[in-house]
Amino acid sequence: MTAIHSLAVFCGSRVGNNPAYAEAGRVLGRGLAEAGIRLVYGGGRIGIMGVVADAVLAAGGTVLGVIPEFLTQMEVAHAGATEMIVTDSMHARKQRLYEESDAFLVMPGGLGTFDEAFEIITWRQLRLHDKPILLCNVDGWARPLVAMIEHAIEQGFADPGCRQLFEVCDGVPALLRRLGSLPAGRGGPGDRF
Ligand code: AMP
Repeated sequence: MTAIHSLAVFCGSRVGNNPAYAEAGRVLGRGLAEAGIRLVYGGGRIGIMGVVADAVLAAGGTVLGVIPEFLTQMEVAHAGATEMIVTDSMHARKQRLYEESDAFLVMPGGLGTFDEAFEIITWRQLRLHDKPILLCNVDGWARPLVAMIEHAIEQGFADPGCRQLFEVCDGVPALLRRLGSLPAGRGGPGDRF
């Protein structure tokens, strides 16, 4: 039995050019449902976001979507989600996503995914939370992101300890195994999200 009950997944609002990305989303969604882990995500029906949510629901799992009002049309809020929270702003959305989750997973995506990934990593660096952060390397997608962080460390712009703020898992099966053995994290003192 995993200590992780709710997982925030940050991922693309597009499916990308490589079919392996959507396939990874499907395997992830199924795996989360089978493990009894609730999916917490941005609430959209498009891109990898939609693929993961559909797969969780198809396998009988639970999905919480958190979407800002202005994106409900653009990203097409998922009508099938178990629960959908509509927020006033992007910041309120992110805060709610963080509060509702025991751990964070970064899957393939674009600039929005990078923003969310870097924010949750830097907030851990600032000790605003101590929840596990996993990056899923699907067909090499995460490599440039990790290389940029390692470059910042090499160039003296980040502490070498920053590399311990997140873990990289090669592919979804390895990721699901790791999720099963993760300790539950904590929010920051006084819930500083
Ligand atoms: P993307 O990776 O760009 O496809 O975006 C994935 C998710 O991140 C979508 O739900 C977007 O709404 C969200 N997103 C896009 N831009 C931002 C941003 N600047 N800050 C936070 N989230 C964003």
